[in-house]
Amino acid sequence: MHLQIEAWVTYKGNFYQHIERHALAAPDAPCVYTGSSEVLSRAWLHQMSGRYANALLALGCVRGDRVAVQVDKSVQALCVYLACVRAGLVFLPLNTAYQPDELVFLLGDAAPALFVCRPSHKQQLQAQLQLPADVKYMDLDANGQGSLFDLARACDHHFDTCAVDGEDMACLMYTSGTTGRPKGAMLSHRAVSYCALTLGGLWRFSEADVLLHALPIFHGHGLFVSCNVALAAGAAILFQPGFSVDAVLAALPQASVFMGVPTYIHRLLADERLTPELCAHMRLFTCGSAPLSAEVHRAFEARTGHRIVERYGATEAMIISSNPMDGERRPGSVGLALPGLELRITDTQDQPLTTGEIGMIQVRGPGLFSGYWRLPQQTQQEFTADGFFRTGDLGCMDDSAYLSITGRAKDLIISGGYNVYPVEVENVINRMPQVQESAVVGVPHPDFGEAVVAVLVPHDMNNAPTTAEVIAWTRERLANYKLPKRVVVLSELPRNTMGKVVKAKLREMVSEK
Ligand code: AMP
Repeated sequence: MHLQIEAWVTYKGNFYQHIERHALAAPDAPCVYTGSSEVLSRAWLHQMSGRYANALLALGCVRGDRVAVQVDKSVQALCVYLACVRAGLVFLPLNTAYQPDELVFLLGDAAPALFVCRPSHKQQLQAQLQLPADVKYMDLDANGQGSLFDLARACDHHFDTCAVDGEDMACLMYTSGTTGRPKGAMLSHRAVSYCALTLGGLWRFSEADVLLHALPIFHGHGLFVSCNVALAAGAAILFQPGFSVDAVLAALPQASVFMGVPTYIHRLLADERLTPELCAHMRLFTCGSAPLSAEVHRAFEARTGHRIVERYGATEAMIISSNPMDGERRPGSVGLALPGLELRITDTQDQPLTTGEIGMIQVRGPGLFSGYWRLPQQTQQEFTADGFFRTGDLGCMDDSAYLSITGRAKDLIISGGYNVYPVEVENVINRMPQVQESAVVGVPHPDFGEAVVAVLVPHDMNNAPTTAEVIAWTRERLANYKLPKRVVVLSELPRNTMGKVVKAKLREMVSEK
């Protein structure tokens, strides 16, 4: 793999330096607004993350250790993330929807030194996960209370941010593979810094901004694109525990920027209280992680007067493209390649195609991940000989270099902004005793963008499991957002001459039902 590291050395050192400098310059400036009308200063965040960094070291974590965190969103959880970055530890955020079966694999693979979980789940997880005896468990709840908080509170707030190399790993983020086996994307301080600084500049973030934050922080969009961009620009964050239409509408008059996924935009639009007056203080709305339809883009402008800046990113590449601040924000397009990033559309042989032709989207730049954790062969497969990452997305570029995504080479379903890899759900359904085989596809859904539909072939058509049985079975084994919204029973699956299930045909069949 050829990472052009020499060209990317601008992004050297610990990412936290970009946050720390704001804390030192104006310690009393507001940094985080929480729902309870509390205002936390930059100095507070700096000191609290220092306490957590000391706590993590006191727990025996050493440079490079993974710290797995499956907790509800809270300002304390944000501090744990910053503490890991400051201490040269590797932050490993885990979706709170992951079930014990999924955690067994992820934690076995990542081999963390410490697992921070919700107090309500700790006992059950300790019994079920059977992690090696030297892995420590700590907990933190949605209100920021728990054993890790108690320890941090008792620790010194002074902490010298660790001097790391830009290439050192800051985070490990799992993306489910097409084979159903999640892969850990290793994200360096360099990649994290590039994303925060480049987007901050492009979107003109300043100390005057207040980012309304409703995204989860276990995903790149909510963490790297949202929190990091705001904090590295010295902007404040209006931190909400999750997305709620009521809470977002109530907070819009205090905010200047909102970042969402299409499902959020869709739900806000469905509420009559969303008016130009309510958005008068807003400077920018961005949207990404899944396709935003041109109709919704236009409807949002008609309702609020704001043209959404749609952008495109991926765990392995951070942020790839964005519509511009000046110039056309084109509905249905994900905009222009980010500065410093090379983007090309190729055929299956990695040969660049001409303008307008649909092909594979490939990228190369400082935001790229450093490879998949402990998977050198798969890492190599995802990179071309000249160091471009194969995103797995299909698209085309027009003659003014605007990129449109036309589909996904990988068979990914994106439901409500979350990725669902069909094979993972299929594997679970196939384990039902009455099921011979199954195929899972995504179909258009007005709210979620796409909905998961499971098609199954039973051993005996007279003894097929009911929809409720399939959902109950998958609910015990998979995160909620991966559960089928609908179950269709067929006597056989459509296949091509090579024996492969023809998913496009299947999608057509179930969309009609
Ligand atoms: P993740 O690794 O969870 O960030 O998912 C990355 C994938 O989400 C990309 O490879 C795309 O398939 C999809 N994606 C992200 N942003 C957009 C967008 N604006 N429009 C369409 N698909 C998107």
